[in-house]
Amino acid sequence: MSTPAFPRPLPRVEGDAAPFWKAVAAHRIELPRCTACGTLIFYPRTFCTRCHSREVRWEEISGAGRVYTFSVVHRATHPWFMDKTPYVYAIVELEAGVRLPTMLVGCATEDVSVGMPVEPVFERASDDVVLLHFRPRSA
Ligand SMILES: [Zn+2]
Repeated sequence: MSTPAFPRPLPRVEGDAAPFWKAVAAHRIELPRCTACGTLIFYPRTFCTRCHSREVRWEEISGAGRVYTFSVVHRATHPWFMDKTPYVYAIVELEAGVRLPTMLVGCATEDVSVGMPVEPVFERASDDVVLLHFRPRSA
């Protein structure tokens, strides 16, 4: 198999976000929560973004959420995405209270709306990386 001219851009499973990506690889969503004030922290960091405490504990959260906002992408910003357009780049607000950037899959671009209930989809993108996308929530 030949190497594609433009390999897919993927996150590195390292640093402060490594526990997040390892959980996603196991089809779970885990984020750090401040044990001092209770703030759920996204993107993953080793300190609280509200009170600056370094006492954080990772916990599993539900993937249930809603489309907070979205954009239909017609012009790829990276060559790997050129044959994927149009696709939906969205910010999903989870019921747990954080907003995640993501791709919305499993629906036509014209069917997406703000407030639409969504659920997580886990896509194995390489030997090391599983990506977190969302799709319309099934009833
Ligand atoms: Zn805090």
